[in-house]
Amino acid sequence: VVSGRLRHLTAAAAVLALAAVAVAPAAVPREHAAPASAARTASTKATDGRFELPSTVDPSKPMRWLACKPIEYRINPTDMPAGMTGTVQHAMRLIARQTGVPFRYAGRTSHTFPSTAHARTPTIYLAFTSRARDAGQTFGGSGGEIGVGGPAAAWYSSSGRTVEAITYGRVLLSSRFAGARTGGGVSWQALLLHEVGHALNLAHSDDPASVMHPALTRATPGRYTPAEVRALRQVLQTSGCDYTAWSRL
Ligand SMILES: [Zn+2]
Repeated sequence: VVSGRLRHLTAAAAVLALAAVAVAPAAVPREHAAPASAARTASTKATDGRFELPSTVDPSKPMRWLACKPIEYRINPTDMPAGMTGTVQHAMRLIARQTGVPFRYAGRTSHTFPSTAHARTPTIYLAFTSRARDAGQTFGGSGGEIGVGGPAAAWYSSSGRTVEAITYGRVLLSSRFAGARTGGGVSWQALLLHEVGHALNLAHSDDPASVMHPALTRATPGRYTPAEVRALRQVLQTSGCDYTAWSRL
């Protein structure tokens, strides 16, 4: 979740306006559709706070995405600001370049943020809202949010082996946000990197000069820090992916 005082976001000299305010909790990742035996609930602690969802098998590690093939992303055009598809593609190319993992734009979708349905391949869903209240968040205005994102995972046990993975990620962005499209600072690029970072399973960082800091400010970089890249590589599994087992999640 990124917070900011929206009414100030367009000001060039927004020095005081973007102090962190009312940080809402991240989207609650929801477990869903574990078809086989023993669906379990993920521990909410574990790992070292760098990830949203820990592995159920080894809670010291993050739940991971299968990334041996490109991770797809889709955009719901409802409430989308004009020209935003290119902005999203630009941000996703940056993420691909920094992580070494390809992301493929798979087109538009009717998938909405609260939906727990997902495609047959690991997918990030991006959606927009012009509403002040949506998906349990308050967007815009003083202290309002400008985005929310998170991963969803599923797992099952079969023959003594637990299969688990992130099944999809989701992002909801306020179309009222008026930041610059590209670059760092109070920008759509930084907002997209932040919320897609959550969708990829990154939690917040205390470092104001990192993308995953909970407030978007002039100090927000337009790219992930080396520590964030390392964390992203931990959540992106790039070898030994079992897509057949994944398809049963
Ligand atoms: Zn956040």
